Amino acid sequence: MRRENLVAQCCIAGGGPAGMMLGFLLARAGIDVIVLEKHADFLRDFRGDTIHPSTLEIMHELGLLEEFLKLPHEKVHQLNAQIGDTRLTLADFTHLPTRCGFIAFMPQWDFLDFLADHARRYPTFRLLMEAEVTDIVKDGERVAGLRVHTPAGSLEVRADLVVAADGRQSIVREKADLPVQEFGALMDVLWFRLARKPDHPAQPMGRFDTGRIFITINRGDYWQCGYVIPKGQFDEIRRQGLDSFHEKVGQLAPYARDQISDIKSWDDIKLLTVRVDRLSQWFRPGLLCIGDAAHAMSPVGGVGINLAIQDAVAAANALAEPLRERRVTIAELRRIQKRREFPTRVTQGLQVAMQRRVIAPVLGGARRVKPPLLVRLIAAVPLLRRIPAYIIGIGVRPEHIRVPEIRDAG
Ligand SMILES: Cc1cc2nc3c(=O)[nH]c(=O)nc-3n(C[C@H](O)[C@H](O)[C@H](O)COP(=O)(O)OP(=O)(O)OC[C@H]3O[C@@H](n4cnc5c(N)ncnc54)[C@H](O)[C@@H]3O)c2cc1C
Repeated sequence: MRRENLVAQCCIAGGGPAGMMLGFLLARAGIDVIVLEKHADFLRDFRGDTIHPSTLEIMHELGLLEEFLKLPHEKVHQLNAQIGDTRLTLADFTHLPTRCGFIAFMPQWDFLDFLADHARRYPTFRLLMEAEVTDIVKDGERVAGLRVHTPAGSLEVRADLVVAADGRQSIVREKADLPVQEFGALMDVLWFRLARKPDHPAQPMGRFDTGRIFITINRGDYWQCGYVIPKGQFDEIRRQGLDSFHEKVGQLAPYARDQISDIKSWDDIKLLTVRVDRLSQWFRPGLLCIGDAAHAMSPVGGVGINLAIQDAVAAANALAEPLRERRVTIAELRRIQKRREFPTRVTQGLQVAMQRRVIAPVLGGARRVKPPLLVRLIAAVPLLRRIPAYIIGIGVRPEHIRVPEIRDAG
C-alpha cells in the first residue's frame, strides 16, 4: 500500500453541504484547503433537496445567484400538507426579506457539483474523491491531521486545523471522543422513486394519515418519495410483503397508482435512518465539528442543509484570518460553537416538539388524524404562515459572507 503525506492549512472531512461550502469559502479567501469525500461522486443517497432562501442569499452575496438559478430546479413558494382530510398551507415564503421568496428544490448533487466547480477555480482548493477518513492523527493532545483510505492506498493529511463535516455518522467526532447527547428520533424514512406523469400534481406535498406520513418531491419526470415509518419497523413492513406496501402507497398517492408497480423489489427502496443528536463540545485542539457531525438533524422542516451551510459560513468568517496567520486557538473554536449552538438548540428543540406533537400521534396510529390547534391557526391566518416560513427559510441567526475573496491566492 502506498503511503503518502499531504499538508494543508485546513483539512475537511466530508464533502456534503457543510464541507463543500466551507472548502469553497476558505479557498476563496486564499486558504490552502483539502476536502476529503469518501464517495466517487455526489450522486448518492438522498439527504435533502432543499436550497433555502438564506442559502440563496449567500449565493447572491458570493455573486453566484444568477448562475446558480440556471441549474434545473423547482421553485416552491408555499409548503402544503394534507393532515387527515384537511389540506393546509403551512408556510408562505413570498414575504421573506430575502432576494428569493422561495425554496429551490434541486437534487443535492447539482448543488454540490456547483460548489465544487466554483471552488476548483481557486488554486488553493483540493478535493479528493474516494478518500475515506478512517482515523485522526494526533500530536500529543492536538488533532494534527487525518488518516485516509483511497483506492491507490493510504494517505495522511496534516493540517493546522481539521474540520469534521462528515455527517451524522462522523468517524472524526467518534475518534476524537467528543461526547454526544441523543434526543431520540422516533422515525425512519423509506426512500424510492415513482414515475411522474404530466397529469400528476406539480407541488411537493406532505400527507399525514393514520399510521403513515408520505412526502413527495417533484423531480421532473419522477417523484422522489419519502415514506415515514416508526423507527425500526422496516423489517415488519417487509414481512407484510410488497403487495401490501404497494397498496399503502396507492392510498397515499392515488394519482400515481399506475406507477406503483415500478417498485419491483425491496432493493428499489432505501432505508434512511433518522437521528437527532448534538455534541456538548464541538471542538478539540486542532479540530472543529460542523453540520450534522456536530448536530445530526431530523428531516422535520427540512432545515438540516440550511444549518450546515450557516455553520460553514460562520466558521469561514471566524477562521480565514487565524488560518492565514497560523494562529487558530481554542478560544476561536469555542466562539464558533457558541455562535452556532444557539440556532441549533432552537431548531432541534422545534424538531423534537414536532416529532412529539404531530408525528408521534400520526405514526402511533391515531384513529382520526387532524391538525393540532396551532397548525390550524397558522394555516387559517396568512400572516401567521410567515413565522414557519421564516424559521424554515431563513432560520435563527442567519449568517452572511464576511470574508473577502483573495483573487491572486497561491
Ligand atoms: C431522511 C432525511 C431527509 C432529510 N431531508 C432534508 C431536507 O429535505 N432538507 C434539509 O435541509 N435537510 C434534510 N435532512 C437533513 C440533512 O440531510 C442534513 O442535516 C445535512 O445533509 C447535513 O449536511 P452535512 O454536510 O453536515 O452532512 P452530510 O450531508 O451528511 O454530508 C457528509 C459528507 O461526508 C461524507 N463522509 C462521511 N463519512 C466520511 C468519511 N469517513 N470520509 C470521507 N467522507 C465522509 C459523506 O459521504 C457526505 O458527503 C434530512 C435528513 C434525513 C435523514
